[in-house]
Amino acid sequence: MKRKQIFALALMATAFATGCSKSNEQLPETIAKAEASEARAGVVISVPATIRVAAGKTFDGHNDIYKATSALGDGSQDEGQKPVFRLEKGAKLINVRIAFPGCDGVHCYGDNLISNVTWEDVGEDALTMKAGGNITIDNCRAYFATDKVFMLSSAGKFTLKNSTIKTFGKIMRQIGGDTKNTCEIIIDNCTFDITGQKPTCLVQSDSPTTTLRYRGIKTALASDKWWRFPNVGSQVKPF
Ligand code: CA
Ligand code: CA
Repeated sequence: MKRKQIFALALMATAFATGCSKSNEQLPETIAKAEASEARAGVVISVPATIRVAAGKTFDGHNDIYKATSALGDGSQDEGQKPVFRLEKGAKLINVRIAFPGCDGVHCYGDNLISNVTWEDVGEDALTMKAGGNITIDNCRAYFATDKVFMLSSAGKFTLKNSTIKTFGKIMRQIGGDTKNTCEIIIDNCTFDITGQKPTCLVQSDSPTTTLRYRGIKTALASDKWWRFPNVGSQVKPF
């Protein structure tokens, strides 16, 4: 090997090493962002107004990336931001990536399926159950929620399965002070990664009639901190 070739190889090796050390400085955020971007197959679509999915229809995003404009909000913890998607009764949302700022995420108006959706950077929250029926979240991922991920603002059945959530204050919250509505919550085969953070709990409800059944939860959070159901009557048990 000639001297010039050896010098060129040495330069390349130095550049590679420098690149590695830079990316390692920003763990774990960088890891989650990299994982989120790895699976990207689509294009970025700007969202200037809430996308409404009509009753009974399916919105297939084909893994495109939906990015709200400032008209919907800034992705902070401010209330009053608008959702990126609104699902009318029986609507389905599949194969969608929701990018920063996330705003008020997805609003569900009853009997909705959300499958293969990634919230790359949850805004005020990721999804709100606005009306009852069965809401199912299957094979989804959510990252960087400052506080809650899923908001239960009405009675209904809420199933979270085969999903992964990283960086959160809590996974689910039945609206604060709601002691009248009954939610039937199911958590099945989910990973809640708490690396580098201190979540308050996984699920919190004030309702004495809300129930929670769970199995296959993978998390490093101590199990006595999984639930906050302060009112007598609430039932939490494995299945
Ligand atoms: Ca909200
Ligand atoms: Ca966030």
